[in-house]
Amino acid sequence: MLCRVEQLGIVNYSDGLKLQQARVAARKAGSIPDTLLLLEHPHVYTLGRNEPDSKTILTNKEILNLQEIPKSMIVIGSGAVGVEFASIFHRFGTEVTIIEMLPRVVPLEDEEISAELEKAFKKQGIKVSTGAKVQKVTKGAKGVSVEFTDAQGKTQKLDAETCLVAVGRDPNTQNIGLEKTRVKLERGFVKVDPYMRTDEPGVYAIGDLVAGSPLLAHVGSMEGIVAVTHAAGKPAEPINYHQVPNCTYCEPEVSSVGLTERQARENGHNVKVGKFPFAGNSKAAILGSQAGFVKIVSDERYGEILGVHMIGPRVTEMIAEAVTVMRLEGTVEDLEHTIHPHPTLTEAVPEAAHAVFGRAIHI
Ligand SMILES: Cc1cc2nc3c(=O)[nH]c(=O)nc-3n(C[C@H](O)[C@H](O)[C@H](O)COP(=O)(O)OP(=O)(O)OC[C@H]3O[C@@H](n4cnc5c(N)ncnc54)[C@H](O)[C@@H]3O)c2cc1C
Repeated sequence: MLCRVEQLGIVNYSDGLKLQQARVAARKAGSIPDTLLLLEHPHVYTLGRNEPDSKTILTNKEILNLQEIPKSMIVIGSGAVGVEFASIFHRFGTEVTIIEMLPRVVPLEDEEISAELEKAFKKQGIKVSTGAKVQKVTKGAKGVSVEFTDAQGKTQKLDAETCLVAVGRDPNTQNIGLEKTRVKLERGFVKVDPYMRTDEPGVYAIGDLVAGSPLLAHVGSMEGIVAVTHAAGKPAEPINYHQVPNCTYCEPEVSSVGLTERQARENGHNVKVGKFPFAGNSKAAILGSQAGFVKIVSDERYGEILGVHMIGPRVTEMIAEAVTVMRLEGTVEDLEHTIHPHPTLTEAVPEAAHAVFGRAIHI
């Protein structure tokens, strides 16, 4: 293990693992000799020359060290990180405006989820501008000015005390000596096989730097299990990346697994959709949080569940059920026949399954 670290040059990297720490780690990992796991956190994209600082132009790092709640904030990008911070700071009392280049917020989610979240945000008072491309970000004495082209092609300018740049992240694989190895990169991300092996014998990669892997902690964790199990010579099960839960902790929460309705249609499925609103769920009424819905995307032929999409109260807790059923190859009918406790938010899941066949009960 030590020999691999030195070959890769990681011990010389300024923030990197110190040799002594590597020795300790190697001793602890004694049962897996001659193996190195590559885990590197990604760089955060910024906007051209506007380097983040501690006050005006922020990324997800600097925003955590803010000493005061800003009066106003422009959030550039409406992926999970953008909408989560928009939602948090809105609840702190900050006047928040989201600018998103694509036509909808949370653009990787099902289109109906995006529409519902935008509606909820606007109702709460979060301003949202989609189809809007940022052209220039300028720091001034009072904060920051953001110039952008709106969906109609008009140039607009917005001023705020702070700006959060949440437009994605880049793999941090430069200057760590990978070029001296057989590890192959794809647009900076590390290519691996289903057991997380790189092309360099004995070197595995897991987490955010893996090509094609979603940038999620629970995925990195499972990739770690696969890699270590395989490295230890035990039977390892490759990850099914179609069954990865996505959770966005904004208000209302968003969660999903599998194909969106559009993806299912584009993949040639004969799609049947069932949707059940939390407005018809008693626990949501008890909680006073009845916005949102559960949506099941299925294939008509065998009732295969292709995707499940949720927006509403505590849906980040509810998505695991959908992942489990999909993993066990359960059908929409299986969900219909599974007794869920009352009163719980989870009752919305079998109701959405009933809705696939047009027989939801509490609508
Ligand atoms: C704002 C934000 C919110 C998020 N929220 C969620 C969420 O709610 N749920 C979720 O699942 N995921 C979330 N993520 C994503 C999640 O944090 C990552 O997917 C996860 O941390 C990836 O794990 P990793 O081990 O690949 O990288 P990291 O957790 O970044 O760990 C990499 C480690 O490698 C070290 N390192 C880097 N270079 C070297 C070197 N040369 N030598 C030695 N060590 C080095 C780093 O210091 C770091 O400790 C969020 C990310 C962000 C930015």
